[in-house]
Amino acid sequence: MRRIALPREGVPTGRVNAYLHDPPERAQTLLVDPGVAVPALFNILDSVDVSHVAVTHTHPDHAGALARVAAKTDASVCAAAGHEDRFRTATGLDPDQTLADGDQVAGAVVLTTPGHAPDHLAFLTDDGAACGDLVIASGSISVAAPDGDVRSYLRSLRRLRARDHSRLLPGHGPAVDDPRATIDRLYGHRRDREQRILAAVREGAADPDVAVDRAYDADLGNLRAQARATVIAHLEKLDAEGRVRWDPVTGTVRPA
Ligand SMILES: [Zn+2]
Repeated sequence: MRRIALPREGVPTGRVNAYLHDPPERAQTLLVDPGVAVPALFNILDSVDVSHVAVTHTHPDHAGALARVAAKTDASVCAAAGHEDRFRTATGLDPDQTLADGDQVAGAVVLTTPGHAPDHLAFLTDDGAACGDLVIASGSISVAAPDGDVRSYLRSLRRLRARDHSRLLPGHGPAVDDPRATIDRLYGHRRDREQRILAAVREGAADPDVAVDRAYDADLGNLRAQARATVIAHLEKLDAEGRVRWDPVTGTVRPA
């Protein structure tokens, strides 16, 4: 897996990673996450014959240059099975093929990993797992309403952990050479946030804004809307588990 770091403002680390899987023994080549239309990406397309192009999920920083890549190559355009409409809306493209859990594409095995986004996939190879916004080497992954689903995210982390890869290749930042320790850190971070939000509700926080004030230590500044969306994603999980009563219509929450 070759990493192509593409510059993009306003995303973690200021870059998004595309990955090229072109093992010498294979005729097929997979490009994952062509997020930004920059020369660094298109120069590679001049020298490599890409047979398949896919995204870990359709957020614009990962899928932003997909249409340009599709126009410039004969690559088969791949979308997550069951999320074709979302794919069309995000990219303007009709997929040539869809990918389901366990499918193989150009030598990579597809693992469905929803949580950060409903259509999230990881691509597993002998050389590491391209895992988009499931994992990051430092900091945490956003799991926020309306795209985020905390229960799915934790399950996806468990599934990736069980694969026991020696190397993870995240959508932002450097490779992860200690996958289980990093996955455990991210898992613990999510559970810790959940405990804080649950405690806030039990202590009387009756809406997401008050829960944000009590569940976050830092002065959030312009990250407040993001924190609020994260709290709502956690309240959806806690409600599904019968631990709080979250009413999305009135925007109120109470202990169960
Ligand atoms: Zn994303």
